[in-house]
Amino acid sequence: MRAVHVWRAIACTLMLMAALPPAPQAQLGAKSGKIALVGGMLLDGYEAPPIHHAAVLIDGERIVRVGRAAEIAVPADYQVIDTSGRTMMPGMIELHAHLIILGHGNYGTWFPWVVKQGPGTLVKVMEISARQLLDAGVTAAVDLGAPLAESLSVRDRVNRGELAGPRLSMSGPWITRASGGMTAQFGGITVTSTAQAAGEVERLAKAGVDVIKAHSGLTRDDYQAIADTAHRHNLRVHAHVYAESDVRNALETGIDVLTHAGSAGTAPPYSQQMITDIVNAGRPVVITAAHRAWIYPDTAAFPERLQDPQLKKDFPPAIYAEVQNSLANWRALGYFGRTDREMVFRERGVKQFVESGTVLGMGTDSGTPMNFHTEALWREAKVHVDMGMPPIKVISALTRVGASILGKQRDLGTVEPGKLADIIVVRGNPLYDITALGHVETVVKGGRVVKSKTQ
Ligand SMILES: [Zn+2]
Ligand SMILES: [Zn+2]
Repeated sequence: MRAVHVWRAIACTLMLMAALPPAPQAQLGAKSGKIALVGGMLLDGYEAPPIHHAAVLIDGERIVRVGRAAEIAVPADYQVIDTSGRTMMPGMIELHAHLIILGHGNYGTWFPWVVKQGPGTLVKVMEISARQLLDAGVTAAVDLGAPLAESLSVRDRVNRGELAGPRLSMSGPWITRASGGMTAQFGGITVTSTAQAAGEVERLAKAGVDVIKAHSGLTRDDYQAIADTAHRHNLRVHAHVYAESDVRNALETGIDVLTHAGSAGTAPPYSQQMITDIVNAGRPVVITAAHRAWIYPDTAAFPERLQDPQLKKDFPPAIYAEVQNSLANWRALGYFGRTDREMVFRERGVKQFVESGTVLGMGTDSGTPMNFHTEALWREAKVHVDMGMPPIKVISALTRVGASILGKQRDLGTVEPGKLADIIVVRGNPLYDITALGHVETVVKGGRVVKSKTQ
């Protein structure tokens, strides 16, 4: 079945679903009320010393008070959540996720399989991804490539409280000059002229997307038209760029976020001039390092990670079996066909940005082969720490910097009075061992407890 038919079939299904009576609203967490998180160490999202034995008071969806627990009298009408012995920090922000995939090894077989399962399966997959991200401590995420109707539907249902998930910023379909392959599989839009690229941005903006993704093969004029059109609609553009010429075109035409730069390259690192120009422009880069050349050797070292029991819990049996089946011979997957060459440059690719002081956000390409939503972000954080970025800086990249890359710094990214109460509690001290971010016990989103291991 050709991809366009596939997505049309799914769109029809969605319309049918819309005609059915609504399902009863899922009960997602305690009603937001007055909550006090008391006792743990607080990392507030700034690169400041932690507050030990801290307390955070939340009233409704916002934070109202933050400080040392000894100095804050918790009013009697607050529900107290004991966080002692653990770390509190802002919810993490994932700047590059793919909700329509779940770590399956082969796009070419995954999408037809999803279609074969019948109506609504793609949306089910996106719902699983959203839940996994939230459970992993991700309270805001950007999806960079999925069919439009499904993207908006999942985002809106999360916003209405009908689905569990992070605050989602959706690009819908990406814009590219490439055709077939991944673009067809992911439902991307292939353009053949600059005017058409601008027209597609216009159409997506009117449909209600949150960001634009400029994928590969675009000309300098295309980038300019995409950036200008998106900015007129107050939308930011994330460009998928690897080659230095693409990075330069995207930088100089005002593309807002350079994503993938520094990852999975088979060419030597960028020129010093390129890095200097990115740093001087203050333009954010989201490396998405942890996929491909990092996840491959990590899986060779510990193939057991592919059977993480959390995956079995999160996936219905048929999906679990399909994903496992696709990874049975993971070393031979086409996705990893250039990994040997990428390994040559993987460390220098990340270090050049870390060492130059580039504004770095954290995104992972989660959902891509073996790159599960359950763990992608702490893996990305670990790569950055291993490549020399101080853990406190990595945590602010995951939170405060991520929020400003989204343009949501007024509401998200730090734990301080006035901000939305998106807070996670993790076991251990991520300043000592960044993989503590893989042990998320409590997730509060907008003042609601949406995950709780201890209660
Ligand atoms: Zn991309
Ligand atoms: Zn991607």
